[in-house]
Amino acid sequence: MARTHRPRLHREGCKLCQMCRYLCPDMAIRMEESGGYMVIDLRYCKGCGVCAAFCPEGVIEMVREDQGERFSGEGGSGSVRSA
Ligand code: SF4
Ligand code: SF4
Repeated sequence: MARTHRPRLHREGCKLCQMCRYLCPDMAIRMEESGGYMVIDLRYCKGCGVCAAFCPEGVIEMVREDQGERFSGEGGSGSVRSA
């Protein structure tokens, strides 16, 4: 089934707790090699929303694939890295 939403991670509020990484069922999230920020690999993400639901800082939001519309998560404007 096609993914309808994708996660958007706002790095400026991320505390690097790695909760999202541990909970992602598709192992699509990793810490960047330098350890400075988290990276979501959208090639493996199925858009389940677990990372956004459980991020204790609320810095992952789910946006629609087609509209970029926000439907959950706190987040704010900011840089996004989804490699
Ligand atoms: S769960 Fe939230 S705060 Fe923790 S590493 Fe992931 S994005 Fe950062
Ligand atoms: S939306 Fe689901 S599959 Fe995608 S990165 Fe988050 S937890 Fe992993």
